[in-house]
Amino acid sequence: MHLSRRNVLRGAVVIGAGSALPPLAFASPASAAPTIASCATWGARAPSATLTQLSNKPNKIIIHHTATANSTDYSQAHAFSLARSIQNYHMDHNGWSDTGQNFTVSRGGFVMEGRHTSLSHLTSGSGFVTSAHCPGQNTVAVGIENEGLYTSVLPPAALWDKLVDLCVYICQQGGFGANQIYGHRDFVATACPGDAFYAKLADLRAAVAAELNPPAWSTVIDNGSAGFRASANWGTSTYSTQRYGADYRFANPEPIGDGAYYSATLPATGNYRVDVWYPANTGYNATTPHVVFASTGNQTVTVNQQANGGAWRSIGTFAFGAGTQDIVAVSRWTSGAGYVIADAVRVTRV
Ligand SMILES: [Zn+2]
Repeated sequence: MHLSRRNVLRGAVVIGAGSALPPLAFASPASAAPTIASCATWGARAPSATLTQLSNKPNKIIIHHTATANSTDYSQAHAFSLARSIQNYHMDHNGWSDTGQNFTVSRGGFVMEGRHTSLSHLTSGSGFVTSAHCPGQNTVAVGIENEGLYTSVLPPAALWDKLVDLCVYICQQGGFGANQIYGHRDFVATACPGDAFYAKLADLRAAVAAELNPPAWSTVIDNGSAGFRASANWGTSTYSTQRYGADYRFANPEPIGDGAYYSATLPATGNYRVDVWYPANTGYNATTPHVVFASTGNQTVTVNQQANGGAWRSIGTFAFGAGTQDIVAVSRWTSGAGYVIADAVRVTRV
């Protein structure tokens, strides 16, 4: 998701009185990459032969279970020991040159690199390494081994949560969607990843998709809404036909703290676009301050209320925490002449 300064420069909105732009939040909402222990970290052996490096990126994820015991040792030491034992088995028993899969997730929620160079390809978002986890798919599919046997029980939450994070990151880096997550048995006659886990893959895709594409959410706070508050110093008017809803509020500019506040209950921590709706009039204020209460600190955006009224105008995209809070206040503290107007505000998750 890309946020641009276009959002704050569009329409009649003027940013600040000076030359410097306010420090708006343009950070990507992408999930943080999970911590992944490299081969060196868990003590892998060197591959027994040169691994085949590919220029193409993978285009899917294949989910496996290790079919080992459902251990109740959730420690990092156990996870690293598991990674070593899988590598030993793949090299010494199967005769492969290295671990077959690309990543391993332990029941304690530790994520580990499998085949050497899988992690560097993932973090750089380029290329892939030919693997050995699913015949016919080893040059295009990221294989994830999940510790345990899931024929009749489901993985513990610690594993599940890290698997979701890992899949989100792989999808982002690979540029493909959650619909490209499969089970081993989708390609080969095998019980893997177990009946119970396989039945849960739809939920895995949904959880990953929700992270990749947060659900749309938007709310409008009009000056008649419960989320609005202003002192009696603010008059109520129906003068302009450009108003939103029944009426709007107005006040004379004055250097006092007597704002018109808009609050909302946000569903999640994230980035939200803030739009304002005001009726425009040449007698209104050309430099009406809008103080946005972003989680990164208050930021003031100045709006020219003499033009471009009667429509939603973005004043920018900002970071907010979850919960009920003040989003923005229309301030009376401006040197410009003419009424400052408080009509409606819309908050949209982006
Ligand atoms: Zn498998």
